[in-house]
Amino acid sequence: MILCTAKKEVSEVIAQKKAQGLTIGLVPTMGALHVGHQSLVEAISPQCDFLCLWVFVNPTQFNDRIDYERYPRRLQEDKEFAKTLGVDLLFAPSEEEIYPAGIQNYDSSQSVRVRSGERADGYEGERRPGHFDGVVHVCASFFNILQPDIVVFGEKDYQQVQVIEQLLADLHFPISLLRVPIARETSGLAYSSRNLLLDDPLAASCIYQAMLSVKENVSKGRRDSKELCEEACQNIEARGYRIDYFDIVDAETLKPLEEVNVPAQLLVAVFAENNVRLIDNLRLN
Ligand code: AMP
Repeated sequence: MILCTAKKEVSEVIAQKKAQGLTIGLVPTMGALHVGHQSLVEAISPQCDFLCLWVFVNPTQFNDRIDYERYPRRLQEDKEFAKTLGVDLLFAPSEEEIYPAGIQNYDSSQSVRVRSGERADGYEGERRPGHFDGVVHVCASFFNILQPDIVVFGEKDYQQVQVIEQLLADLHFPISLLRVPIARETSGLAYSSRNLLLDDPLAASCIYQAMLSVKENVSKGRRDSKELCEEACQNIEARGYRIDYFDIVDAETLKPLEEVNVPAQLLVAVFAENNVRLIDNLRLN
């Protein structure tokens, strides 16, 4: 596996591979790799000849400094793990590589910035102002550096995939998007780097159990979103967790649904122990 930290280095490798006619696949991550990331690698591997994985804790997508600072960073372990997964190139740049004008200038009008569209409104976009702007900006930057033919995103971040789809379309990136379903622990808890911050990850499976109960009730014919969600939230709150949102939305537009009568997605964000914020989602019908 090739390890690159500099843009120049990585561009040379990619140019070489492209000249050989290889298809470049890309897995974007913030590191602390886990089984969820592995599922992305496994899904994209058969569709590309040269697989790149980026590890970059992108400061501009964090609106909370503490969340950014305590985000797990495990580059050494990530290198080992990426190697065992058959990754060909791991790109782990510094902040200066990606934001040459400095992070402090990103927020000023001096810098050119990519801005997310309407799909970023609500939910994560509303709770974390600027989050999706940071995501699309960094993705556009990395797409330009790594020139992938295909990129993979997990449905764990459901709204993010919708936003990335729009980024690719609106800015004419010649890149196909592969979406991968959520990988879950045996308990049902969605794999996440933030699970490392939990003392009792097993307890957090109450989130998935509550989500499943909504799905079951929908399959029994219940349709009233507010009732369905309120009931389910009680079981999560009983654990001492705090609900950020727990909402049934149109799976395509992400607009809230009063009645579950079109393809519907349950979107969830919960503050678990230690104020760790976990997100999850589930297709209901
Ligand atoms: P992150 O490192 O958390 O930014 O995630 C990088 C990519 O991995 C994103 O596309 C996520 O949606 C995806 N991902 C993270 N956790 C999971 C999971 N449990 N199942 C599927 N994809 C995931």
